[in-house]
Amino acid sequence: MTWSDPDVGRTVVERDELQDRVAQLGKDITSDYADRPPLLVGVLKGAFMFMSDLARAIDLPVEFDFMAVSSYGSATRTSGVVRIIKDLDLDLTGRHVVIVEDIVDSGLTLAYLRKNLAARGPASLEVCALLLKEGLQKVDPDLRYVGFRIPPAFVVGYGLDVGERYRNLPFIAEYAGQLPERH
Ligand code: 5GP
Repeated sequence: MTWSDPDVGRTVVERDELQDRVAQLGKDITSDYADRPPLLVGVLKGAFMFMSDLARAIDLPVEFDFMAVSSYGSATRTSGVVRIIKDLDLDLTGRHVVIVEDIVDSGLTLAYLRKNLAARGPASLEVCALLLKEGLQKVDPDLRYVGFRIPPAFVVGYGLDVGERYRNLPFIAEYAGQLPERH
């Protein structure tokens, strides 16, 4: 199968733009955390690809952990009520934590995560989001690192799915198909 799929719409971020920006984010994190190697906390499943490329662009001995959350709401709108499906394995006490997120839309999922992780006593807590949808945040997302600001369309690729598909697209594209009620 090729990606000549009619549901894959306009490209929003090209493959080489992703590579260049992720390399830059890795450099920024490397210099900001030179004296305190960070613990990267990836939010599954969407951030897995970004996390793996970002980690290889960081020239420090980072550690990894993952969390899986599910937000209640429709496919395109989160309610802000978040359920932890898989919790972290590591203790965050005294750690310099960087949350690695795929996309921030309303910001509600991230607001929940930040509050939840901040309560675990990290020495510092920052967020690195690959994509930020412009103008849709209900709460100030306060992102230390942002890959790209994109217009408010539903996108797929580079970890982002619709019904588990399209995660392995090597670029970010608008989804041109019918969105399911939930995904
Ligand atoms: P928020 O709570 O910021 O509204 O939504 C964040 C979560 O909703 C993301 O982590 C992601 O799982 C999902 N999401 C938001 N926008 C998109 C999108 O355009 N495409 C995909 N595939 N998921 C999205």
